[in-house]
Amino acid sequence: MNLQHLQDYLHSHAQGHSQPYHQPVCAYLYDLEHLRRRADMLRRSLPSQCMLFYAIKANSDEPILKALLNHTDGFEAASLGEILRVRAIDDSVPIVFGGPCKSDIELEGALSHRIALIHVESEHQLRRLNWIAWQRNEVADILIRVNPAHVPQHATLRMGGQATQFGIEEAQVPSLLELIQTLSNINLRGLHIHAISNNLDANTHLALVKHYFDLAEDWQQRYGLKFEWLNVGGGIGVNYADPNAPFDWENFCDGLARLVSAHQPGFKIVFECGRFLAADCGCYISEVIDIKSAYGKHFAILRGGSHHFRLPVSWQHNHPFLVLPQDDWHYPFSRPAVHNAPVTLCGELCTPKDTLAREVHVERLRAGDRVVFLLAGAYGWHISHHDFLSHPHPERLFLDN
Ligand SMILES: *Cc1c(COP(=O)(O)O)cnc(C)c1O
Repeated sequence: MNLQHLQDYLHSHAQGHSQPYHQPVCAYLYDLEHLRRRADMLRRSLPSQCMLFYAIKANSDEPILKALLNHTDGFEAASLGEILRVRAIDDSVPIVFGGPCKSDIELEGALSHRIALIHVESEHQLRRLNWIAWQRNEVADILIRVNPAHVPQHATLRMGGQATQFGIEEAQVPSLLELIQTLSNINLRGLHIHAISNNLDANTHLALVKHYFDLAEDWQQRYGLKFEWLNVGGGIGVNYADPNAPFDWENFCDGLARLVSAHQPGFKIVFECGRFLAADCGCYISEVIDIKSAYGKHFAILRGGSHHFRLPVSWQHNHPFLVLPQDDWHYPFSRPAVHNAPVTLCGELCTPKDTLAREVHVERLRAGDRVVFLLAGAYGWHISHHDFLSHPHPERLFLDN
């Protein structure tokens, strides 16, 4: 995110201050040029056998999808609604389709919207897809989604390596491979494994990918199969606790290149990243309306909060932020402030859960200053409960050159 955009935005917002009571600042800013550059950089550093898809649930706004259209290899959709969002901007870009549920209508929709690969998550889903494809006189190209028996531990969320609703337990895969051979309208193209989210460690991520290679190679050998695709999911993390120590992508790509040249896999490797692509392209900015203290602790109350930006509450972390001082003060009375002390940043909702950072030290924070939450481009607006309490939505601006 380019901070100059923030200054420009605040400058333009200040132009509207002629009325006695101004609308406080509250906005998401997304930097599309930054997003495109980031996607290009990530893609360039991957070995040639790899592809980068964008998992659109992280941020499915049309300008974001359009920005990434020719800067990724395709999109991962997790519902028919997401498929339609992608097809609204392009009728041929490759889409892969995941998600544990997939109703018949969604499976049929996936076929009619020419999804490249459907990630099958259970035996019943497989049989339903075969049956629907048979009625349409089509063959469905699929990957089977595996829930591997072992995954590394360094992640915020885990969808695999333990009992979850996602994918097919590793031990059940062989019988599914046998079943697939009897299904007339299914074409197995490979495996999909998305087992963790927000992994911050490049070496564990590499170990994870190597483990997936081993699984794929073992099953190919045992069942005389030839996979064309190994989708290794998303899950590359963003370091909200210390934005200056990001996931070491360069090191990861070096290791991956060594892994690919050692294994010479016959399949292509797909990454379907959401967070790692989009987090850094957006920020959420909000104005401090009030500062107060209670029982020895300081609180800043912001216009906005978790109904716009639920991520910190959902993950129970202190979201990284910057203070943008605003020197004008137009009230004829003193300005509430906190100096050199820990402060808790709260939103405008009537619930103690509406807290975006707890007891974080600030040099100075005053009513009227603005707070900018960084790394808010992924899983920010899109996972939030916008209409709880009926406050106005934030402005949402997509900036481009
Ligand atoms: C959410 C999701 C992703 C993207 O995960 P990130 O952690 O945002 O990279 C990729 N694949 C599947 C199947 C998902 O559910």
